[in-house]
Amino acid sequence: LLGTDGRIASTIFAEMSALAVSTGAINLGQGFPDEDGPAVVLEAAREAIADGLNQYPPAIGMPVLRQAVAEHQRRFYGLEVDADREVLVTAGATEALAATILALVDEGDEVLTFEPFYDAYGGLISLARGVHKTVPLRLPGFVPDHDELRAAVTDRTRLILVNNPHNPTGSVLPKETLELIVELAERHDAVIVTDEVYEHLVFDGVPVVPVATLPGARERTVTISSAGKTFSTTGWKTGWIVSTPELVTAILAVKQFLTFVNGAPFQPAVALGLGLGDDFYSGIAATLQGKRDLLSEGLRAAGFEVTVPKGTYFVVADAAALGYDDGAAFCRELPSLAGVVGVPISAFCHPRLAGEYSSLVRFAFCKKTEVLERAAAQLAGLA
Ligand code: PMP
Ligand code: GLN
Repeated sequence: LLGTDGRIASTIFAEMSALAVSTGAINLGQGFPDEDGPAVVLEAAREAIADGLNQYPPAIGMPVLRQAVAEHQRRFYGLEVDADREVLVTAGATEALAATILALVDEGDEVLTFEPFYDAYGGLISLARGVHKTVPLRLPGFVPDHDELRAAVTDRTRLILVNNPHNPTGSVLPKETLELIVELAERHDAVIVTDEVYEHLVFDGVPVVPVATLPGARERTVTISSAGKTFSTTGWKTGWIVSTPELVTAILAVKQFLTFVNGAPFQPAVALGLGLGDDFYSGIAATLQGKRDLLSEGLRAAGFEVTVPKGTYFVVADAAALGYDDGAAFCRELPSLAGVVGVPISAFCHPRLAGEYSSLVRFAFCKKTEVLERAAAQLAGLA
């Protein structure tokens, strides 16, 4: 958690957003949408405040949201979930991850993630004094090698932390990889924690297979998602966990001392969002797919080599093709070169592995079309 100067290091997202503000560059670094989500969801939160839902909600979450989460799992994935015992509302996916890791990881326990990994994973594993092991996602396509995965899971592995669709690479894991993870977790008695916050942000008809739907997975899986991505409400910090009653109880025991409860007026609003029709869900994916294509094309025209993502709102571009081998240095220069901010993939890696990914940069495309067009035009000057 500490930088080389011994002080607490700020996250790459805070650093890059500050760079965008100070330089006036277009911020394609931190992933947050620049447009509001569905008006009915926003209105429902306003109504909840007007109706007086302004005090502590139940620790496990308001029944209306727990029922909506259970219904969502049934509707999209055919999973039967007990809304009273198998759902826990959290302050975003971040608290869900924090409470889960702190509840289940003892000092010295191993936690396996893929690498690159979402930065909070590393920080939270450190807070729990766990040992962070990783399996690299390999190019092309950012997929793991199954032999490397097999070798990485041992009896010391307490958690296998999956993120699918994957931030920062935008990859969607093949079903066979998920099946192997379940098999390994069963063999070594590990719990699978699956961060599926981008579950609805997938393209080209690629299916996202929730880990909990696979045979044998349900009883050892903690599924995490969040309203932030699906409803473009990243500031509401309203997320949830779906798991077994035993795991929910253990994780709730930690949550009560992290935030106790959270987000009363947002909970009925998110519940309403989860019940929106299929048009809404296909619409967000289709709109985002258009933005993905726009930015990917712009990056390619500027001379980058681009890995077109299957999910999330991030695209990875290789600056080596433009003569830059150090993505971090390139990202520091990019505001003056092209008036755009991106995030180096090395920020999602341990120093040991960062070299493999050193020329890669992540750009977020959850931005208005005109902003992406302007970014593409400015980036074209690099070619
Ligand atoms: N996991 C992943 C993979 C994410 O990209 C994010 C959002 N940056 C989170 C968790 C955190 O979600 P929330 O804002 O709901 O805490
Ligand atoms: N999840 C977003 C991203 O990856 C933002 C995370 C953050 O700001 N902590 O860019």
